[in-house]
Amino acid sequence: MRYSAFRLLKEALTGHRGWRPLWRDPEPQPAYDYVIVGGGGQGLATAYYLAKVFRKARIAVVEKGWLGSGNIGRNTTVIRSNYLLPGNEPFYEFSMKLWEGLEQELNFNAMVSQRGIVNLFHTDAQRDAYRRRGNAMLLAGADGELLERDQLRAMVPFLNFGNARFPIKGGLLQRRAGTARHDGVAWGYARGADRAGVDLIQNCEVTGFRIDSGRIRGLETSRGYIGASKVGVAVAGSTSRVMAMTGLRLPIESHVLQAFVSEGLKLTIPGVITFGAGHFYVSQSDKGGLVFGGDLDGYNSYAQRGNLPVIEDVAESGMAIMPMLGRARLLRIWGGIMDMSMDGSPIIDRSPIQGLYLNAGWCYGGFKATPAGGYAFAHLLATDTPHETAKAYRLDRFQRGYVIDEKGVGAQPNLH
Ligand code: FAD
Repeated sequence: MRYSAFRLLKEALTGHRGWRPLWRDPEPQPAYDYVIVGGGGQGLATAYYLAKVFRKARIAVVEKGWLGSGNIGRNTTVIRSNYLLPGNEPFYEFSMKLWEGLEQELNFNAMVSQRGIVNLFHTDAQRDAYRRRGNAMLLAGADGELLERDQLRAMVPFLNFGNARFPIKGGLLQRRAGTARHDGVAWGYARGADRAGVDLIQNCEVTGFRIDSGRIRGLETSRGYIGASKVGVAVAGSTSRVMAMTGLRLPIESHVLQAFVSEGLKLTIPGVITFGAGHFYVSQSDKGGLVFGGDLDGYNSYAQRGNLPVIEDVAESGMAIMPMLGRARLLRIWGGIMDMSMDGSPIIDRSPIQGLYLNAGWCYGGFKATPAGGYAFAHLLATDTPHETAKAYRLDRFQRGYVIDEKGVGAQPNLH
């Protein structure tokens, strides 16, 4: 989205009447070759790569609300590829590489900022675990550095290096990690998909699936029936509810995850910091707000709101490493519905119903996986074969016992 300074000035002086919407608002067609359910990051990126990379046409995205109204617009914007297991690390590193070229690819400012992430460790055993993780990252072509206490202290002196309950012994640094503007990512993919001919249909809720002889035929929606040869479901926290309409039960639970933003402060935090002895992570937005979060609310829910005990928990964890947090005033909190798979890793696979495909189980990691998740899902829809980096994300792994047991959280209480 490049506008000249002259154009910006002209719009500012003439009441901003010249801006055009970034995408069309089409009526649903009677049928498409590909329909993606869910206009979040995963759905929009899938549609974009289907059209741009796999050269498919007659594609629609159907979204029950507005584009970006789900978790893509509610997350805490962390992108990283600091995973351990072979099923995960190459996939997240693929995503990291796509992030690095994303703004040029989309010609859109998604504020991708590689400001680094540090995972703190607090015991010698945890140092060993992070050393192992760092080595796995290097082997997969990612970057990782183990920092000892003094190196870390020079970098983030405001952490509690004194007589803390969980003494900070060092951290695992990934310099190429960082943050990206979440809704900007949705808008960039949406504009790119629209320009490649994808119909983005908002206020269109899927209310049923038409399945005949084990094959998908189309979708019942709040805007009428839409025929489809292939359907890709990417509805994140609503996965179990939506897939129940097809008669499938999935190893996924929905929980609320809350996020927090403080008032704007002077620039203090260079990148993202995660606590290693409790669930807390923090970064600082360009406006100066401390953006932080912790763990899920413990009960299942489809409501996008959390509760006070978790707020207390997160604040307590934050104070344990960063006492200055207690002086900052909280500006806003919110919640999003997370699709928690039973091993912490996602599912990108065919379903037992022919022509119906599933992208789900993102847990804490679906934003950083937006580029790779969309790319791999588009690959699967277009070629009926899994993408090289997403081969492990099979739905039947829970039956077969091939789980990818990596909680994959931003802050990993990894004290073993
Ligand atoms: P969504 O944006 O939720 O998209 C799903 C869409 O499906 C929604 O727009 C919804 O309206 C639509 N839908 C649902 N039902 C229907 C239906 N019946 N018909 C049509 N449409 C339907 N991940 C990270 O990698 N880094 C982070 O820092 C991070 N922080 C997070 C912080 C919070 C507070 C939360 C809540 C999540 C966080 N995540 C993070 C996780 C990440 O946001 C999600 O995993 C990811 O956004 C999920 O994929 P999505 O973008 O496609 O989901």
